[in-house]
Amino acid sequence: MWVVPESAISGLVDEQSAFEAIEGCFAAMARRDAYNFPVVREALGEGRQYGFKSGLDRVGGILGVKAGGYFPGNAARAIPNHQSTVYLFDPESGKPTAMVGGNLLTALRTAAASSLSIKYLARADAKVLGMVGAGHQSTFQMRAAVRQRQFEKVIGWNLHPEMLTRLEDTATELGLPFEAVELDQLGAEADVIITITSSFEPIIEDRHIRPGTHLACMGTDTKGKQEVASDLLARAAVFTDEVAQSISIGEAQHAVAAGLLHESAIRELGAVINGTHPGRSSADEVTLFDGTGVGLQDLAVASKAVELAIASGLAQEIDF
Ligand code: NAD
Repeated sequence: MWVVPESAISGLVDEQSAFEAIEGCFAAMARRDAYNFPVVREALGEGRQYGFKSGLDRVGGILGVKAGGYFPGNAARAIPNHQSTVYLFDPESGKPTAMVGGNLLTALRTAAASSLSIKYLARADAKVLGMVGAGHQSTFQMRAAVRQRQFEKVIGWNLHPEMLTRLEDTATELGLPFEAVELDQLGAEADVIITITSSFEPIIEDRHIRPGTHLACMGTDTKGKQEVASDLLARAAVFTDEVAQSISIGEAQHAVAAGLLHESAIRELGAVINGTHPGRSSADEVTLFDGTGVGLQDLAVASKAVELAIASGLAQEIDF
């Protein structure tokens, strides 16, 4: 059994390898070669959340589980609040094959998902990237997004404006100008908008969004969370990683519950990757990707990390 510790991941998996792993993962899901098992999520008390995301890629030969959650007391322990570990198993024998640090991989696979949605759904001439949210995930999101289009500017909004320096610093590193804006301006100027917040109320209203915009809504991964108004989902062409998660814990949960969007109208991004759905239908269409975060994403990037770690001698082998 291979062990790939968290400390090794940053030198192994980069944006490009995460992107390729997630592209293959979404494509396999849409072909029904791979599927996710039901998510387990439990509140442990004192704000602690713990859960499991798991799945099987029959063709890729990947079986495993990501175990982890949110532990707010960790700040006092000087370790990240989000803690996760991926365990991989041989799908034939059930024997464990690897244990992989999952913290950085979670950020990389989440950013790869929204970046894929930009590749396949945003207008080719997109120039302005709008960011809503300035937390830990936001920098990964921005870095992955700018690889997909010739963005000339980043604009951003956050509920807590003092956090916007994080977006400004990242944009500067990427050689792009940054401007903090109000939501009206964000909607009027951005061609692509990424939302990555912990919001439980809609931040973006339908009136904010002009025709032709692509939104990647990445923050809503739990029942009750919401980043954009339900009537915007009714107007948009909605795509997701997995329909079952989109309607239960994703951004679409509210529009579906309100009867504004039918489950059958939500498409898998993997179908666009496979060429079985055309994706954007016109330059004026609003496209929206509901990125809920599926277990197979975690397994795909963890498998990549193991492959790269073995090749570079960074994986530790233990007799188990
Ligand atoms: P973080 O705690 O570092 O940052 C939270 C962000 O949300 C900040 O911008 C903060 O200002 C904003 N925020 C907090 N409360 C808010 C509120 N009530 N209304 C509006 N904005 C609010 O978190 P993070 O690690 O950057 O993660 C952001 C979100 O992304 C979380 O909800 C997390 O669960 C989710 N997430 C989703 C996936 C996925 O696969 N879809 C993966 C990882 C994280």
